[in-house]
Amino acid sequence: MSLVIAVHYRTGMRVKHPSSPAGGPAVSKPRQAKAAGASRKAPAKTASARAGKGGKGGKGPAVPDAATVAEIFRRFHDANPEPKGELEYVNPYTLLVAVALSAQATDVGVNKATRPLFAIADTPEKMLALGEERLREAIKTIGLYRNKAKNVIALSRQLIERFGGEVPRSREELETLPGVGRKTANVVMNIAFGAPTIAVDTHLFRVANRIPLAPGKTPLAVELGLEKIVPEPYRRHAHHWLILHGRYVCKARKPDCGRCLINDLCRYEAKTI
Ligand code: SF4
Repeated sequence: MSLVIAVHYRTGMRVKHPSSPAGGPAVSKPRQAKAAGASRKAPAKTASARAGKGGKGGKGPAVPDAATVAEIFRRFHDANPEPKGELEYVNPYTLLVAVALSAQATDVGVNKATRPLFAIADTPEKMLALGEERLREAIKTIGLYRNKAKNVIALSRQLIERFGGEVPRSREELETLPGVGRKTANVVMNIAFGAPTIAVDTHLFRVANRIPLAPGKTPLAVELGLEKIVPEPYRRHAHHWLILHGRYVCKARKPDCGRCLINDLCRYEAKTI
């Protein structure tokens, strides 16, 4: 029987948060694509206001100095020294599959499908033996499951043919796999291999623009901005802390600034205290 590593985000905030996020993932979930969809539906001004005014040409508050940035991450660290993701996996391969399946889906929903799936298919070889049709059936409760099943089979085949059945450790190699983009690669590198990568989801994107830590108009701009300013000791867990903060405290429509442990350092003009 496979050992399931059930990791769970601990919020580390001063309040007790719901164990099941309403919207999102482990790295979580409201995905960038989802965020993009939201932007299309919402008036540009509203979406911009929710994220803050940071970014090139923006008139939002200035990024805090290095000492303040360090203090922000010190507080996140002290509140939650070892933040974890919510997706369940048993090895780097199943983590890769779980993250690939989690696009535009909740971690809870993905875990529900992958628990029985990974019990019978926790390697690329076993996944190929299972076949696309049975995989499709196993994940049919997850959005976009037809395309995701196709990608998982294709990436499993490529892992065997090109990487000896192992998950590669570099972003460049990971991104060559079907259905694997920069964010998925960053998550796998961080969680499976301990790399100090920063996977930018919609929560992190919003928080980084609001505080502001690394204002930017694209996830990549925010990722690169954070890489420049996050102190090295905090780099490994930076994205977990910021995602959790955005999911449970600095929420999109109504940030809980009164419960925020950095509310004295945040410069978001619309903060609620
Ligand atoms: S003070 Fe409010 S807006 Fe600023 S980071 Fe905290 S929750 Fe977000």
